[in-house]
Amino acid sequence: KPDDIKDFTLITPTADVSIPTHGGRAKCLQRLVRLDMPVPRTVALSFDAVHRIAEGERPDTPRLLSAFGRTPLVSVRPSSADPDWGGPGAILNIGMNDTLCAEMGKRIGKAAAEFIYLKFIMAFAMEVARLDPEPFEEAVEEEGENALRSVLAIYQDEADEPFPQDPARQLSEVLRSMARAWEGVSARLLRQARGAPVDAGLGLVVQEMVHGIGPNESGSGVMRMIDIVTGEKQVTGRYKHKRPGKGQGGLDRQIMYLAEDPRGPSMQSVAPEVFAQLETVALRCRERLREEMEIKFTVTEGELHVLDATRVMRSARADVRVAVSLAEDGIISTREALLRVEPQSLTELMHTQVDPEAKRDVILKGIAASPGGATGQLVFSSQAAQLSASHEIPCILVRQETTPEDIRGMHAAHGIITERGGMTSHAAVIARGLGLPCIVGAIGLRVSRRKKQITTPDGRVFKEGDLVTVDGSAGEALAGAVPMLEPALDRPFRTLLGWADEVRDIGIRANADTPDDARMAHAFAADGIGLCRTEHMFFEPARLITMREMIFTDSATDRRAALDRLLPMQRADFVELFRIMAGLPVCIRLFDPPLHEFLPKDREGLMGLAESLDLPVSDVTRRVEALSEFNPMLGMRGVRLGVTVPEIYDMQVRAIFEATVEASQQAGATVVPEVMIPLVSAKREVELVKARIDSVAAAVRIETGKALDYRLGVMVETPRAALRAGEIAAHASFLSFGTNDLTQMTYGLSRDDAGRFMGTYVSNKVFHEDPFHTLDKEGVGELLHIGAERGRDTLPEVVLSVCGEHGGDPDTIAFCREASFDYVSCSPFRVPVARLAAAHLAL
Ligand code: PEP
Ligand code: MG
Repeated sequence: KPDDIKDFTLITPTADVSIPTHGGRAKCLQRLVRLDMPVPRTVALSFDAVHRIAEGERPDTPRLLSAFGRTPLVSVRPSSADPDWGGPGAILNIGMNDTLCAEMGKRIGKAAAEFIYLKFIMAFAMEVARLDPEPFEEAVEEEGENALRSVLAIYQDEADEPFPQDPARQLSEVLRSMARAWEGVSARLLRQARGAPVDAGLGLVVQEMVHGIGPNESGSGVMRMIDIVTGEKQVTGRYKHKRPGKGQGGLDRQIMYLAEDPRGPSMQSVAPEVFAQLETVALRCRERLREEMEIKFTVTEGELHVLDATRVMRSARADVRVAVSLAEDGIISTREALLRVEPQSLTELMHTQVDPEAKRDVILKGIAASPGGATGQLVFSSQAAQLSASHEIPCILVRQETTPEDIRGMHAAHGIITERGGMTSHAAVIARGLGLPCIVGAIGLRVSRRKKQITTPDGRVFKEGDLVTVDGSAGEALAGAVPMLEPALDRPFRTLLGWADEVRDIGIRANADTPDDARMAHAFAADGIGLCRTEHMFFEPARLITMREMIFTDSATDRRAALDRLLPMQRADFVELFRIMAGLPVCIRLFDPPLHEFLPKDREGLMGLAESLDLPVSDVTRRVEALSEFNPMLGMRGVRLGVTVPEIYDMQVRAIFEATVEASQQAGATVVPEVMIPLVSAKREVELVKARIDSVAAAVRIETGKALDYRLGVMVETPRAALRAGEIAAHASFLSFGTNDLTQMTYGLSRDDAGRFMGTYVSNKVFHEDPFHTLDKEGVGELLHIGAERGRDTLPEVVLSVCGEHGGDPDTIAFCREASFDYVSCSPFRVPVARLAAAHLAL
């Protein structure tokens, strides 16, 4: 019995075939057989058998062929555990020889038989005997279909033996060559890069050939029931219709649509019954294999054969639609639909992205800091970006690195490229917040602001106004404009995330600095705002001037006067945030950056400032210099400003509380704001600031006659704050770990400069990953554990969260969930990924 042949398994409904032993293709073919599909006879070779063939064992191919009856032709195709790992190409028509060719000629015509023979000899010569393709190709080019004799002669010449006529020998050589190709070094490296284990096996399937050739309806093709880009239900694929004629191999071929189509002829119109049968097969596959399948088929004389079915390769967007639609049709559970979508793949749906099919002229590579694609004219300053935006011309802002002064330029730009920086550099954080594609740390790029040009690593020069495309998902810039795909926050996307929310057990909030951000956070269904960096509200032109005046005041009274002018603006911002978030928690962080960041850096700016303050330039310059620090990120910022220049925090908390009263009245629901103190390293800092916040709260209560409540939180972003979390928690109701600064300070590694050598560090395995991207669980993570534990010892109900950029990273979410944190907070654009990742963890 063929089932008994050693190492070879005839695929029957009950045969012992599984993915771990025979690979996915073999298993899938068995499923098709079980579904009673018209599948030609197929024999599967196990990983083990193929491995032994690669090692030199001779397969018993005469017995293998006996499974197929008299003088068959067969194909061999690879069957690994995961089709994404690649594998050797299929070889068809094994068994063809002089005798069979003559015999077949009587049935299907001489030309057709010889054509099949010719193609097989060519494939065998190149893939199996590994002969030089050139003489063969030349012969075919010169003689067309009459090349059969020449090709046989060339084979004999090149291989020093006649073309093998014995089907068993042909098959055994094909098997050996495919088995060896799998074990080759380059194939191994390629599949490991795609995630295959070192010892990934290859199975092979040997299948009887059915040719789509004959005087009546014949042909071959592939069919899918979805559009592979959108996932929408639609019959796609093609049908190669064949009938006797004057074309190659005595056949006329015509490529047709499958379903009826106004653009041209279709299988549905020429062979409606076979088409209907095929459609039934496809629907049955979807239902029973619980997946959208691509079906490879042949039609011989009106009879349908299903050769193979594989999972439809599709875009991330199509993947979401397919998962939701399978679940809605009751074919899979919602749980399985959730698990079938890779969280990270959702980013592709949320941004306009470079069409994966587009031609790419890559001009530079860097760190993929913020995903999406955008085309625009190059500009080299914030002003130029704004000018461009005012003319509605899309632009790409190029800077050595960005500073808070560039915010408006970044808002105006469609994409950002910086020469320096890493995953948490200013440009990267802001771009992610704005949902703009961004490349930082562009290796080998030279930016000349003066000449308004960039020189790429290979010496090409692009000037202001030149059209460039940023592919922030790939971290590459491309020359010129490139086709794009639009974002898809469609019904399937929202449905899937709705299911995710039902199962996840950790909160996902958004970092949102402005009302625009908050609207985005709300649209992406965040559980609230986990971090509002209030200083970003001061960069609007009118506010920046007042801010600068405030910085230049001499006395606390003057300072208060300047701050009084900022107060209504901040209050209006907060009212709007509360309104947009409609009762969801809003966590507002008090002022954090060094004041120096608000001052101009170049002479032009200093002159302008002197003018607006009505002071001599020398005075202004001196004051700016006096405020400059050697190490501003470790200097007068965060709570240190709150302690030394308390009027700023006084103004901010007053704005928050007045906004709270106003919003509570408007909404009819009580708003309870969360106020958070940045860069704390000592308990006393919290005590001092808390005392002032309490007194402002008391004052606002008396002034307005309204009840008012708030929650106070501390950012844990210095190592000392994590170590002293026990005493700090005595004064706070929540602790939020600012893992950007905490990583910077734990490693002693500047978040703005690390990009310069991060690539080298990661490739040399000093770091597994960029610690600004994925939380360093061993080091920074230990500080999180310590902080959480000591905080909880003092205050068991203390609310714990992470609000650094890591909050959107699935590994970090897993870490936080295991440590029983209450929520993570990340850029609005990362919220959907985080919601799905959190659901996966809970499933
Ligand atoms: C942090 O340090 O992790 C943080 C959230 O604050 P910022 O990035 O504004 O310094
Ligand atoms: Mg910080």
